[in-house]
Amino acid sequence: GVHPGALTAILEPVGRDLRRPSPDDPAAVRTVGVIGGGTAGYLMALALRVKRPWLDVCLVESKDIPIIGVGEASVTEMLWFLHCYLGIDPVEFYQEVRPTWKLGIKFDWGPDPSGFTAPFDWASHPVGMLGALADTGSVDGFSIGSLLMMADKAPVLNLGGEPVSLMKYLPCAYHLENVRFVRYLTAVAERRGVRHVDATVAEVVLGGDGWVDHLRTTDSRDLRYDLYIDCTGFRSRLLGQALGVPFESYADSLFTDSAVTGNRDHQGHLKPYTTATTMNAGWCWTIPVPENDHHGYVYDSSEISDQQAAEELRTRFPGISDPVYVRFKSGRRSQVWRGNVMAVGNSYGFVEPLESTGLAMATIAIRTFVSVLPASWDEPLARDAVNASLNGQWDALRWFLAVHYRFNTRLDTPFWKRARAATDVSGLQPLLDVFATGAPLARRQGFVRSMLMQATPPFYGLAGVDNILLGQAVPTELVSTAEPLERWRTRRDAAEALLRHAMPHADALQAFADDPGLITELFQDEDSWLGPTRARLLET
Ligand code: FAD
Repeated sequence: GVHPGALTAILEPVGRDLRRPSPDDPAAVRTVGVIGGGTAGYLMALALRVKRPWLDVCLVESKDIPIIGVGEASVTEMLWFLHCYLGIDPVEFYQEVRPTWKLGIKFDWGPDPSGFTAPFDWASHPVGMLGALADTGSVDGFSIGSLLMMADKAPVLNLGGEPVSLMKYLPCAYHLENVRFVRYLTAVAERRGVRHVDATVAEVVLGGDGWVDHLRTTDSRDLRYDLYIDCTGFRSRLLGQALGVPFESYADSLFTDSAVTGNRDHQGHLKPYTTATTMNAGWCWTIPVPENDHHGYVYDSSEISDQQAAEELRTRFPGISDPVYVRFKSGRRSQVWRGNVMAVGNSYGFVEPLESTGLAMATIAIRTFVSVLPASWDEPLARDAVNASLNGQWDALRWFLAVHYRFNTRLDTPFWKRARAATDVSGLQPLLDVFATGAPLARRQGFVRSMLMQATPPFYGLAGVDNILLGQAVPTELVSTAEPLERWRTRRDAAEALLRHAMPHADALQAFADDPGLITELFQDEDSWLGPTRARLLET
């Protein structure tokens, strides 16, 4: 395996710069209570232990309040976060959690009946976006990731029986079966010295404006920490309920508020991507895990009832397991950090799950907060900057998701008619205006690009926005391609010839299980997209 310390050691120079609390400072930050044991809570607790090993970190969770149990699709940053930032041994992780690979999202969406691919290698698109659009009118086939998704294959080639991995140069994300993932994080946290308290917080006792003094549990214990991390999910027990930080709804842009989920046998056929399928009053995810496909129909409960949603899901995916319902609200609190309370996860913000951003935004919040964590409350604090930055990133995501609704012409149900007519995309309108004058945006001049940077969503960036707008055939004038179409076709044919050797997803995962060296090269080779060079670049 990869030694857990090996990956985090890369980041140590940053760690040495950090100040520890001084022993005689009464305002020192020495103890942290992470309240909540969902993915947000465990990822935060682990980050604090890795980056500030001197902190006494205690995770409090309630047996009586279950975790949300969804949130299984991720983006590429998750691999980096888990293995490079937290130093989680990838070999052990593959054995214990059994992730599957996500090359991107396949959208059953937009005017083309076959939908379109949104692969994670959009920014490099080594085959060529303009050629794809010029040749077929579709973005499909613009990259290796896209071609693999179209062929339903993994980025591992079978050359005469020997697996050869392309994954070193092809960004990909994980699908994570929720129960195994959280169980694994719980075990790692215990191993790494995160203390664990099983308790339900009944009362949050305030000590002054925006300041939590201590927590009182239902069994009358008092829990007292220097810093509180609210990871209590949608309840937002500390930040929202106790400190009264208001919730700012995104309902004008994102109409869905419910999901009905279920699992279905995939007979061993594992797709290497998440699918987002347009449904009558929303859309449905398909997330492949080793055992089965996980589905979730995300809908607007003002349009259809829970029973209608479950029925539509069952009709679309016959044989699906009994329905499980989830309610949610899209929006964020007006601040993520107030006083000695910082929130991570659904307690602070959430946008409906279309682009699998929940885990990614939790990791961004964690990295942002940990990087400016004070050693003492008497220090100058970066609180306003953290609030402004994270609020801005959530709002950018809101607008990015909104354009998925505004421009999806797939169905003419009342929900989709309303989505096309009324979805508020105002925060992205300036970018949409520029898009109408020429696309892809990522190919426009530097000044045009930098003008738009602030409006672009975290992680997805301009290339990600291009992919979604072009995939939905939002009207624009394409910038001219410099090369003759013939040359593009030759390149695509060459890529397809190479990918004829690509393995089915399940076989490729098995090859990785049989030969952990394939995992190790992904994380230890200097030139891998996950290797030490990139880890150094990303660590800020
Ligand atoms: P939770 O999992 O709800 O955990 C809350 C914790 O707080 C629990 O441990 C509970 O015991 C504890 N708690 C609450 N109140 C108290 C109390 N009073 N005392 C003590 N403990 C308490 N994200 C993705 O990245 N990808 C996806 O594909 C995705 N899909 C989603 C689909 C849906 C329908 C929804 C709603 C969300 C989805 N998300 C997704 C987001 C995902 O759910 C979250 O990012 C993630 O699960 C984090 O949840 P959490 O840890 O904030 O909260």
